[in-house]
Amino acid sequence: MSQALPLNLELPRKLGQHFLVRDAILNQLAVAACGRHTQRVVEIGPGKGALTRHLLVLTDELHVIELDLRLVRHLETKFAGIEKLHVHSGDVLDTDLSQWGPAAIAGNVPYYITSPIVEKFLSLDARFPIAVFLVQLEVAERLLATPGTRDYGYLTVATQLLCDVQLVCRVPPNAFVPPPKVGSAGVRLQRKASPPENLSELLRFVSRSFAHKRKTLRNNLRPFYGERADSIPEAGLRAEQLNIDQFVRLHASLSS
Ligand code: SAM
Repeated sequence: MSQALPLNLELPRKLGQHFLVRDAILNQLAVAACGRHTQRVVEIGPGKGALTRHLLVLTDELHVIELDLRLVRHLETKFAGIEKLHVHSGDVLDTDLSQWGPAAIAGNVPYYITSPIVEKFLSLDARFPIAVFLVQLEVAERLLATPGTRDYGYLTVATQLLCDVQLVCRVPPNAFVPPPKVGSAGVRLQRKASPPENLSELLRFVSRSFAHKRKTLRNNLRPFYGERADSIPEAGLRAEQLNIDQFVRLHASLSS
């Protein structure tokens, strides 16, 4: 590994550039993504390469995607000569991640696009079984939420329909430079063996069920299912009270 360029430039915070500097946490995230070893990893938003360094030890091939050109140049210099590392310059949301499957996905992701990144992972297939993301604590709580709680909503159900979600670690603001204003947490998404059938229709149904969070299912679903929405046993409940299996069953019964 060659000497890194000094990186004293004032970096644009709008790109979510808070760099994690605690080795123990970085290692925990890398192990959560790779286990003892995994063949290929895709890292989103490598920044100055802190997580990259830990991932490199645990994989044979690492693809990193970074939007900030200065950081791309920095990474190319810092890791010059490391053949298993491939630095890609670009926006992750415009990048076709499927070209690198099978692979694990990891990243201390920019918080301003966390939901689209999670949704991008969810839209991939079984060749991408695991994603480990460091996200804003509030988003981690939504991903991990259980029915009947304030955080349980569309993102929770869309994620848990496809993945088992696990908390890896909580990370305080002072583990970053510069520190973000909010707490963070590492989450591990493990794709379930078989996705539900009619996934896109099911997601539309979940979205309709949560359209007005305080309204009952009867009121949210009546515009789409008419009087049938009144006859379901759950009509008087709110979407946040249904567990994942109930969403699947209710959608199947209303679609039949
Ligand atoms: N992984 C590094 C770490 O842990 O120190 C940096 C994490 S920082 C929170 C997020 C990184 O994502 C920054 O390097 C930022 O430039 C990059 N980034 C922001 N928007 C991006 C996008 N749309 N596509 C790819 N990278 C992006």
